[in-house]
Formats: sequence, C-alpha cells, structure tokens
Amino acid sequence: MSGATQVDPDRLLSTFLDLVSIDSPTGHEEEIGRVLEARFRAFGCATTKDAIGNIVATYPGTRDGTILVATHMDTAGTDRGVVAVIGDDGIIRSDGTTILGADDKSGLAGCLELLTLLRADPEIAHPTIEFVITVGEESGLVGSRQMDVGSLRATHGFVLDTAGVMGSVTYWSPTSVYLTITFHGRKAHAGVEPEKGVSAVQAAARAISTMTLGRIDEETVANIGIMTGGEARNIIPDLAVLSGMARSHDQAKLDTQIESMRLACEAAALAFGATVDFEAEEIYRTYKIEEDAQPYREAAAAIRSLGLEVIARKSGGGTDGNYFNAKGIPCVALTTGMVDEHATTEHIAIDDLVMAAKILFAIVTGPAAD
Ligand SMILES: [Zn+2]
Repeated sequence: MSGATQVDPDRLLSTFLDLVSIDSPTGHEEEIGRVLEARFRAFGCATTKDAIGNIVATYPGTRDGTILVATHMDTAGTDRGVVAVIGDDGIIRSDGTTILGADDKSGLAGCLELLTLLRADPEIAHPTIEFVITVGEESGLVGSRQMDVGSLRATHGFVLDTAGVMGSVTYWSPTSVYLTITFHGRKAHAGVEPEKGVSAVQAAARAISTMTLGRIDEETVANIGIMTGGEARNIIPDLAVLSGMARSHDQAKLDTQIESMRLACEAAALAFGATVDFEAEEIYRTYKIEEDAQPYREAAAAIRSLGLEVIARKSGGGTDGNYFNAKGIPCVALTTGMVDEHATTEHIAIDDLVMAAKILFAIVTGPAAD
C-alpha cells in the first residue's frame, strides 16, 4: 500500500475540529446535514436525504458486497458554540462550558478520512459502503427508528458511536423501555372537605415505595426519574405522573420487571381509590451479535491487524445499531475514542481518534468474512 493510504492524523484532526465547530443539537441538524451531504458528495458518494433528515451516502465499491457504516449528526442536549481545546497531553476537550460533540463527530470524521483514503487510491479493494448518518439519535434513536431501510443493500454493518477502550466491539445491547405512569385521583379542598378527595400523589408515592428499582439483576435495571403532581398546598391532587425507564439485556426479565411495576401501580391506585394509566414505550430492542457472525468477525480481524486486543463489550445503552439490527441489518457498534459523552468533561485523545479511523479503514479494506 502506498503512503497515501495511511490515516493522516493532522487531516483527521482538522476534519474533526471543523465538524465540532458546527452547531448541531438534536432537532437542529439542518446546517450539519447540509455540510455533511456536500462533503460526502464531494468524495463521489451518491446521497439521499429522507423527510426527517437522515442521510444515506453511498460510495461505490471496487469489489462485491455492501456494508453499512452508521453515525449520527446530532449532538446531545442543547449546547452550541463548542470551542475545542487541544491539550499538551494530546487530548481534545471543550472549553468546559459545553459538551465537545465527539459523540458522534469522531465517528463522522473517521468516515470522511476513510473516503479521502479510498478516493486517493482507486486500486484498493473495498465493498460498496452505505454511510447512514442519522438525525435525532440523542433523543431516543428517533432517526434510525423512523428510517425506512428498504432501499439499503448492506448485508451487515458497523455503528461508529460508542465509548470504551480501543478494540471494543459492542455485540450485546439491552432493550430500553420508557415508562409514563399517570395516576388520576379526585380533587378536593384539603382544608374543608378532604374526605371527598383522592390523592393521586399519595397513590403514586405508594406505588414507588413498593417497586423494586435500581439494579434488579445482572441484566436488568429500572428507575423512576421524575415525579410530578398536584397544584396547590391546600388541594388534594387529582393528578400525578411518574416518568421512568427500565432496561435489560434479557427480554423476558425486562417483561417481568415492567409487569411487576405495573402491578405495584395498580395495587397502589386500588388502595387509594385512584386509577392509573401505565404506558410502556419500547425505545429500542436488544440485539446480540455472535462472535462468528460477519460484522463481529470483520471488526475483530481489523482490530487484531492493528495489534490491538478485541474486547467484547456488553453495553448498558443503545445506539442506532439496535434499530438496524431490528430491521434486519446485523451490526456491531465500535468505539470512536469518545469519553464522558454528554458531559462538559467530554473529551477524546487524538491517538484514539486516529486509531478508530485506522480500525474503520482496516475493516473496509480487509477481506470479507464468509
Ligand atoms: Zn452517539
């Protein structure tokens, strides 16, 4: 391979810094979407954008096969005006007032570096690459959830969007369910005729106090994160709303946990003469990619080819990969080097940014697993 086909750390860093300088909080992806579509097109990709803003950029292969490489264009929260600061220690941070946005601009910068390398040497054998760049990932995988993958031809894929040490391959992710539990009671003047009231707040409190929460077992967690209700000190509250979530790597255990929370709510409502609406919305569904499956083997081979150890990672959260898996495209998720994503302490080491790009290049240019 010629020198031109090596990841160029300076070029990659400059691409990354360009991307983090563009505001892209979830729900405000117009500008970053325009920039990315133009950049992928400039490398010779055919691009499409769907109604909600997801971009697919297809780079034609020089050999058979099609793979998916997924990233997301939005950044967590509402931060704008990110100022990246490169430390003497080789670590890129924000100025401390915002997130950095390495989640997921590190993944995006790697994709653009990959295209630079492939474009520079048309002799390199590689499959067709469908780069899928979603919107709304940070607000519950909205982009991948709503995306119609019917036009994609990829047989398997790689999602560049996790933390974890270099060499991590996220092969197992949980199902996540959002819970919205609404207690309805009866309003009454608490000072004059409390007998006529039914306190929705009290029913909700009883429900919480009888739930098992936190870590349920090795695979399962559950939480009630928000409790709201009532309107005045002297009015018996007729409404209380609990917002929570439950996750498990084991679908049956999750179903059992949610059922027990539902029963706790119904029993509490009954005890106080209230009623309850218990809504459980699946945000993403568990997937598990076996070690002998194509995306795992191709990722593992690439990681080993760079002298790194492959670390099979079971994640506590989801990525767009959960939806691509659910929609029939088996995917593993790979670390991009990001650390402390979603926090003002978010950072990434330049060495890790570079290594993640090397892994991506090795995956794409390596032999296809059978
Ligand atoms: Zn992300």
